[in-house]
Amino acid sequence: MSAKVAFIGLGVMGFPMAGHLKAKGYDVIVFNRTAAKAQEWAGKHGGKSAPTPAAAAKDADFVMTMVGNDNDVLEVVGGKEGVLSGIKKGAILVDHTTASADVARKVHAMAKEKGVHFIDAPVSGGQAGAENGKLTVMCGGDPEAFARAKPVMDSYGRAVTLLGPAGAGQLTKMVNQICIAGLVQGLSEGIAFAEKAGLDAELVLDVISKGAAQSWQMENRGKTMHARKFDFGFAVDWMRKDLGICIAEATRNGAKLPVTQTVLGYYNEVSKAGGSRWDTSSLITRL
Ligand code: NAP
Repeated sequence: MSAKVAFIGLGVMGFPMAGHLKAKGYDVIVFNRTAAKAQEWAGKHGGKSAPTPAAAAKDADFVMTMVGNDNDVLEVVGGKEGVLSGIKKGAILVDHTTASADVARKVHAMAKEKGVHFIDAPVSGGQAGAENGKLTVMCGGDPEAFARAKPVMDSYGRAVTLLGPAGAGQLTKMVNQICIAGLVQGLSEGIAFAEKAGLDAELVLDVISKGAAQSWQMENRGKTMHARKFDFGFAVDWMRKDLGICIAEATRNGAKLPVTQTVLGYYNEVSKAGGSRWDTSSLITRL
């Protein structure tokens, strides 16, 4: 019999991720706060939906959550009708939300008290990665629980890796976001410079993406940045949340993040100017 998997949070990322689990043959039940989306998912994929996170988790071997921020995780996991009030002993809870390492450690401890294993497992690869089932999944937790959950996560992940104990997945995602922030600003400056210089920006991107300046951002976002198209992808306000988490963690561990701090200020400006749901490549609008 196939394992039972509950999936909580059917947003831009969760909706397709839960779909991949169903396609792989898992017995999937979903919960979404806005019930219409859960019904839409069940209609599309032929799975079941539950009225609360606790009800979804009740018989599940694995419970995956993909919500917004720290508070949302604490609410769907530890709230009155949260996952931990319904989940069975020995089950594995996996949180894919990008949240703080503190919350990961806290939920790990809350789960342990109930005899439940917890893995923090934020993802990278964006909406396209979720839809194509090619996410990078960065995990923190106990090796034995990870070994059991990895085949489930492989349904939508192409690189699913354990990086250390509880919180290590979130810390790795912070490194990922720190690496992206300065890069997107650099790419914005390069494209804006090419435009001012009267060059054919598309041709420039085609050429330099075959050299040392190449990056995922250049290949996937360069041309849309030049066309000023931002109505897709990873929202500016999610990046503001993520960079805020990075800066709070750096304040604790002593790391210096001057560029990340500056770029966060730029994202605050983009958000204020009406771009809170635009893709993060919208940094170029400031130039
Ligand atoms: P989204 O489209 O806004 O979806 C968020 C989902 O979480 C929705 O289903 C929402 O329910 C649910 N939710 C939020 N707060 C909740 C709460 N307190 N209780 C119950 N449900 C709640 O966001 P997303 O783009 O899928 O992103 C989800 C997470 O993945 C975020 O942490 C984000 O930083 C991270 N991430 C996103 C991307 C990306 O490209 N989008 C890439 C990597 C990582 P409703 O439908 O009721 O609002």
